[in-house]
Amino acid sequence: MDTYPVAAHSERNASASRKLRNNSKQLPKFPSREKIEKFIATNKLQTPYLVVDLDVVESNYFALRRTFPIAEVFYAVKANPAPDVVRRLVSLGASFDVASPAEIKLVVGAGATPEHISFGNTIKKEVDIKLAYEYGVRLFAFDSEAELEKLARSAPGSKVFCRLLVSCEGADWPLSRKFGCEVGMAKDLLVKARALGLEPYGASFHVGSQQTRVDQWDTALAQTAELFRALQGQGIELKMVNVGGGLPAHYTDSVSPVGSYSSAIMKALTKHFGQNLPHVITEPGRSLVGDAGIIDAEVVLISKKSYDAEDARWVYLDIGKFSGLAETHDEAIKYRIESLGRKGATGPVILAGPSCDSVDILYEKFKYQLPLSLQIGDKLRIHATGAYTSTYSSVGFNGFAPLPTYCI
Ligand SMILES: *Cc1c(COP(=O)(O)O)cnc(C)c1O
Repeated sequence: MDTYPVAAHSERNASASRKLRNNSKQLPKFPSREKIEKFIATNKLQTPYLVVDLDVVESNYFALRRTFPIAEVFYAVKANPAPDVVRRLVSLGASFDVASPAEIKLVVGAGATPEHISFGNTIKKEVDIKLAYEYGVRLFAFDSEAELEKLARSAPGSKVFCRLLVSCEGADWPLSRKFGCEVGMAKDLLVKARALGLEPYGASFHVGSQQTRVDQWDTALAQTAELFRALQGQGIELKMVNVGGGLPAHYTDSVSPVGSYSSAIMKALTKHFGQNLPHVITEPGRSLVGDAGIIDAEVVLISKKSYDAEDARWVYLDIGKFSGLAETHDEAIKYRIESLGRKGATGPVILAGPSCDSVDILYEKFKYQLPLSLQIGDKLRIHATGAYTSTYSSVGFNGFAPLPTYCI
């Protein structure tokens, strides 16, 4: 059995740390088909719904901790806020990146303590900052002067970190432009943070979600190290680097394993910070929960628009852009879709959702292949849908209910 060094600061208690070192039981990287199919067959629930295999979440958490032991893991709750997912991660010793009071209440309700919460949203109402502070949260992100002033007023003395603007090249779901500021501005703001009675604590960035290039952290860490040096000149020693999320899940394109990302980030940290490494935190969302989920869905209609034999079939599902598959926007995320129980030749299809909105087309440019024998009522499994599905489903556009989640 391998043993790994464990970052002391990141352990909530000895039992979580023991669990990590002694994790010799084989955890699945993908949901156990047997377990999922048994759940589906036993419960006969109305589709569509999401099933999350908590052992896969655990396996992904351990894989990250093992390959990137110096980093404290703050789970980005927005990826999948199912209470069972959060509870499992609390039991493993994880910390949490939250964006709102509701997410704070959720993680506290699941057993997380305020020292393990980072309020990572750079756009916060001042009443929400105050509420977080009352909950005991003392770690906050910002990327602008006005936000810093809100923090100084409503979360006095807290640790603050500045989000840097970075390019999101190579990311299938970029998070650029809207967030972060340039290094020169970040420097001035962190100096100002000290003057306002806050603790200038560190810097963060996010290289974009579903980042396919392991080298993208290098550029961002070069900028971060530049910021650290600039602030040393002002007598400020930053302590923390938050390397964000961006680690991938497994969709149709193949991606490098988490270990290649961890070692590339580690190499970049050493290159830019030398032996004097800062406290490192990482905020995975997609990579912890994406692969853990499978959506059970059904074919509602199969049709053609003309008698032209060359036309692709239109296949309409009971799930669409408004009921959980929002990341099909611009066909950015291409889920693996499997039809059940049909064999034989396949042909191209255009896939669409059930709602009365023409935006609700899932894939048209990228031609999915489904069996020619596909029938209305056939079941489909949409794989690696544990992240950014249930949270993106609307409250009931056209009366289609939000996507329910079942954790097993
Ligand atoms: C959404 C988000 C994450 C998670 O990103 P993934 O690419 O899903 O890992 C991390 N940090 C912040 C600040 C976020 O907004």
